[in-house]
Parts: sequence; structure tokens; C-alpha cells
Amino acid sequence: MISPVEKIKERLSIVDVISSYLSVEQSGKNYKAKCPFHNEKTPSFFISTDRGTYYCFGCGAKGDIFSFVEKFEGTDFLGSLKILADRAGIPLEKFNYNKSENDDKERWYEILEEATRFFEKSFSENPKARAYLRGRGISDETIKLFRVGYARDEWRLVTDYLLKKGYKLIDLETVGLVKKNNDRAYDRFRGRIIFPISDSSGRVIAFSGRIFKEETLLSSGMPAISEAKYLNSPDTPLFNKSNVLYGIDKAKTAIRTRGYSIIVEGQFDLILSHQAGFSNTVAVSGTALADNTGASDLNDIAKINNLGLIRRLSSNIIFAFDGDGAGIRAANRSAMIALSLDMQVKIAVLPEGKDPADVIFENIDKWKDIIKNSVDIISFHLERICNNTKDLRMQGRAIKDIIFPFMSMIKSSIEKSAYITLIYKKTGLDEAALMKDFETYERNNLNHIPQEKETIRIIESKPRRDILEQKLFGIIFWQEGSNVNLEKINEICDFFKKGIGEDIFLELYEKHKINSQNLAFETDLWYGDKINTVSRDFKEITLNLEEEILNENKALLQPLDTEEKLIKFNNISKRIEEIRKARNI
Ligand SMILES: [Zn+2]
Repeated sequence: MISPVEKIKERLSIVDVISSYLSVEQSGKNYKAKCPFHNEKTPSFFISTDRGTYYCFGCGAKGDIFSFVEKFEGTDFLGSLKILADRAGIPLEKFNYNKSENDDKERWYEILEEATRFFEKSFSENPKARAYLRGRGISDETIKLFRVGYARDEWRLVTDYLLKKGYKLIDLETVGLVKKNNDRAYDRFRGRIIFPISDSSGRVIAFSGRIFKEETLLSSGMPAISEAKYLNSPDTPLFNKSNVLYGIDKAKTAIRTRGYSIIVEGQFDLILSHQAGFSNTVAVSGTALADNTGASDLNDIAKINNLGLIRRLSSNIIFAFDGDGAGIRAANRSAMIALSLDMQVKIAVLPEGKDPADVIFENIDKWKDIIKNSVDIISFHLERICNNTKDLRMQGRAIKDIIFPFMSMIKSSIEKSAYITLIYKKTGLDEAALMKDFETYERNNLNHIPQEKETIRIIESKPRRDILEQKLFGIIFWQEGSNVNLEKINEICDFFKKGIGEDIFLELYEKHKINSQNLAFETDLWYGDKINTVSRDFKEITLNLEEEILNENKALLQPLDTEEKLIKFNNISKRIEEIRKARNI
């Protein structure tokens, strides 16, 4: 049987897949592009059509269409499998791969999908909920597209429904659908309109519920009792609220083709913006980007991850947050991160007290104008400062407090000095003095600026060593399970032990054993019956992994202050040379 992975590879060319994410240009027989995984001005990312692989000479990123999608979209192997299978028009069910009982993740996705359908059905049976959404300007078509649902105001509807289907309570709890109170289990979402949140591959991973209780509704459409207006799923193994942007599965293609993204805060903003034709919109509702609690956490890895995928799709970003103080503060924090990632940041200026949903509902053309007239973040703040005060000294202080932090995030010196000139023209403050003040500011705040290298490291979702280890032990566990090639497997394990050392081998073996079912399963999908290519790959992976480990050990020896360390260092260097030769580099 041919594996799904091979079948997909037969149908999709690597150039087509990658060029749907990046602009690529032909270079002889191959193609090249600017690497999406590190910052660069000239292309060092090469695509080999013959081999169906890519390689970056700048950062060493390499792999095939699956690893590319995995890395680019920040998903896992099964996520990339789903994205590419959908694209190739290959139904995955057809392959009937042996889903192991222990495959928790698959089961959790299934439960969330079942729950989504359940909520959709409840919604279709609730004319009041439908009328409410229509009243806010959302069309039936849009409701269907975003799979909007309804959770009735009862204690155990979805719980009982899923238990009856044979799922276990513990799993319902794990995915965040069920809450427990003194052994009493009940539905987390009750009396709420449900917005399913999906990952970039379109799998539902969580829900956001807006309160909607028929019996307590006042004429205004607002509930009489005070409950949280919005309730989100808690963090689960599938949902990390700092890593998810609502609507990303529907927005990713448009962000890339239109060359910019629009970031809004809430579900209604997002849905209406898509309905108004801006399918390049994503929302940060309930995610760390919109989190008001952490004030100056620029180095927060989560927030940077949140923007990582968006940035790879396009570096132009427009924040369209509410025109009130809280909205502007939220936009400021996100903009700061985006600038530090070398993105071009603009702000859509909304009328005071209105959010995008209000504006779109009133007049779609107004929304189009607002997006078209969005301004870069520094001009935006400069305008506000000048409107707030005419006092030159106050302006000077505000510029230092509000604008300098943004300017110091910008990498280009030319851009920086252009902004100094802009401030001078707008305020009349002395240009040379502004420049001097700014230089002092930058010197004093140097430590707070994340360096480019650091940022790149953070964006990379999985270190190379992890990927290699997982591939390697995937093959081992897969072969162990099949019991056919034990001899062959022992042979390669010996090869590995000889290179890296038996103790490290055993340590790694134990570490990955916990996940052995999943790893074996992924490997099975990957190779199908092409067993003969395995040992070649295995050798290559082993050498790569050995090199990674040796490089780490080498770094640990610094500083080289003893004779012993120096000898070790030289031995390691020699071995790395050998490995490189063996790999023909
Ligand atoms: Zn690269």
C-alpha cells in the first residue's frame, strides 16, 4: 500500500506548495526564495524540484513539503498532513491507517468536532439566537462558514451527548468542555453563542462563548444578570491561548495574497470584517496579544509566537482595535512586538468609542476607508500628542515617553532619522536636539530591545535536535512494533550507539518511549511500505543528530582554559569534520 504521505507528494509539487506561502524565483533547475525562517535580504532558501526538498544555506532549515508546512504554520505533523491532504484532494479516511487506542490527540480533535456539530445543531433550532446575529448584521452564509453554534442554558447537555457517544469524561474535561465541582461534572458553556476556534489547519481546538440566555434577555439584547460576557476554553493540550489567532485558518491565504493582515480584537469584529470582504483579518480575542494584565513583557515568547505565522505570511500588519484607551494600549503592546520582528506596523484609526463591528455594521465603505487610511504607528501617536496639547514642553515629554520606545524598535537608521524629521515638521521642536535625546534614550534602553538573533530563535517552534530525535526514534519504534526487521534495526542502533555513545542512546530511548505510539504512527504514514529507503534516511538522520549533539558538547567546553578541555575540543572538531565528509558537505 502506498502511504498517504507519498500519495500527497505525488500530487503536489514542492514549488507549488511553497510558492503558495512565499514568492519564489527560478534559479537554473531549482528555485530560490527569501527564507521565511530567518531574516534575510537576499535569497538563500533553495528548493529542489527533483528531490522535493528545500534547504536554507542561511539557517540550515531543510525538509520536504510536510516539514515546511509544519514549521511555517506552526502546526504538528498531523496538522500538516491534514492541510496538504485537503489541498491534494485526498481523503485521509481512505487510508484507514491503524489509529492506536492511545492516540489521545486524534480522539480529542474528534470530541471537539462532535461538540461543534452539536452546538451548530442547537443553533439551527434556536430562532432567537439566529435573529440576534442577523440583528448584528451577520448573514446566514457567514454563520455557516464560521460554524457558529449555540449552547443551551442547561447543565449537562453536551456532556451527556458525548458520553452517550462513548467518549470518556476525563477526555471531555481535558479538552475543556466539562467542568467539575465536587465530583459533579457539568457543561462549561451554558446559555452562550458558541464560536469555534480552529488552528491554522482548520481543526477545532477550543471555543469562545458569548452569553445569550433567552429567558433573561432584556429588550436591549443584553442579559439581565451579570455573568462574564465572553467565556473561553481554558488552556488544554490542544489549545494554548497565547498561540492562537481566531480566524487564522480562513485568513492565511488572503494575508499572503493581499500582502497585509488586519488584526482586530473580538469575534464579531473578525466575522464582520471577513463578511465585508477583508478575509485577511484575524482576531486576538482571548489570546495573549489582547491580554491586559502583563504590562511590559516584551520578551514574552508567547506573544512573539502569536505573530510568528502572520509575519511569515506578510510583514505588513494593521491593528484595528477599539478607539478607546484600552484598545490603544492593547494595540501599543502588540505593535511594539511587531516592530521588533521587523514588521511594518500601521494603525487603523477608529472613531472614539466604536469597534470595527460597529463601523462595518453601520457602513461597509466607512470600514474600507478606515483600512485604506491607516497610518504608521508613529504618525498615529504624533497626531494624538499634538491634538492633546499645544505646550511644546509637554509635547517633548510625551514624544520621549510614547514615541521613542516605538522608534527604538525600528531597525533601519534611515527610517529613524526620517521620523525625527517628521516630528520636527509637526511640532517645531529642534531637530538636532530631538536626535540627541533619542540617541540618549536608545543608549539607556539598549537592554530592553530584543536582538534579532534572539527573536529568530524564539520564532523557530522546534529545535532541529528535537526533530531529528523524533524522526530517529520514530523509525526505531515503528520497526520494533512490526517485528519484521529486527535484525536490521539492531544493526542501525549499533551504528548509532557507536557514534553517540550507548549511555546517550539509552537516555534518549527512555525519553521518547512515552511517545512511542505517536512516533511510530507518524513514521508509518511517512514510509508506508518503502522500507528500503529507511536505512538510508536513518543513517543520514543519525549523522545529523550526532553533529548537533557534538556541537552542543563543544559549546559546553567553553572557555577552553584547561589542557583536557582543549584535547576534547579538538577530538570533537575532528569527528564533526568526518561527519561532514560522510554527508558530502
Ligand atoms: Zn533560513
